Amino acid sequence: MKSLQGKKGLVVGIANKESIAWGCAKAFHEAGAELAITYLNEKAEPYVRPLAEEIGAAIIMPLDVQNEDQMIALFEAINQKWGKLDFLLHSIAFAPKEDLQGRVTDCSRQGFLMAMDISCYSFIRLARLAEPLMKEGGALLTMTYLGSEKVVEHYGVMGPVKAALEGAVKYLAADLGGKKIRVNAISPGPISTRAARAIPNFDSLLQLTRKKSPEHEALTIQSVGAYAKFLASNEATLITGNTVYVDAGFNIMSL
Ligand code: NAP
Repeated sequence: MKSLQGKKGLVVGIANKESIAWGCAKAFHEAGAELAITYLNEKAEPYVRPLAEEIGAAIIMPLDVQNEDQMIALFEAINQKWGKLDFLLHSIAFAPKEDLQGRVTDCSRQGFLMAMDISCYSFIRLARLAEPLMKEGGALLTMTYLGSEKVVEHYGVMGPVKAALEGAVKYLAADLGGKKIRVNAISPGPISTRAARAIPNFDSLLQLTRKKSPEHEALTIQSVGAYAKFLASNEATLITGNTVYVDAGFNIMSL
């Protein structure tokens, strides 16, 4: 039997074929899960809908995580269709360009709050909406990056935001553990995606990671998907509250 056979999952964060969330959605689908897939807005829909249809998604809906009505509508649709949810992947991040590309010291209040709201608080909000649907337990997954714990040049305000996200993972895991809901963050090494290319000098970060990591390999969305599939499955029982690396070992190296 496939590891996610019979399971229902929500995937938030597919922009296109390069997205980490797409690598995960494919892995979930291949492992037998039925999926709900969201797209940010009308502009994103023509890129996301064909991918969602390719893997037979049961629910395809818009979700801007700052839009509470869309959040509610999405979970109502999930409840109506399945009456339950087994796992959820949150794979989104955003910061206004001027705040992302400047010094953290100069970050605007508005930019900081927006980055925190979209990239961190939204995970907490999704967890709260998922909780009543995870009657038999479940798995909540999010994506973080090493810039949360080490200062990575040009990662800017996303560093503190990812640190908050990793903190939220621990507190959510403690809150929800009694209901057998596991909460984990995956920390991939750099992968060339639309969000990643917004980081100045991203190509040098890619090259540095490949050169310095023990495995000297370029990361792929497939390798992240394989780990996400494991964490979403019952095989990962008792694994919760962690940030796990899929980075060819880069995080252990001193530069
Ligand atoms: P991506 O393909 O650009 O995905 C980012 C997604 O976030 C896009 O689908 C984007 O929608 C969505 N998004 C932005 N604002 C949103 C909002 N208000 N509501 C709903 N969705 C919103 O980039 P990615 O690299 O796969 O990023 C996924 C996650 O992995 C992020 O958390 C990122 O920080 C993390 N991560 C990435 C890397 C890397 O090197 N790529 C490494 C470590 C961690 P649109 O594109 O349609 O605007």
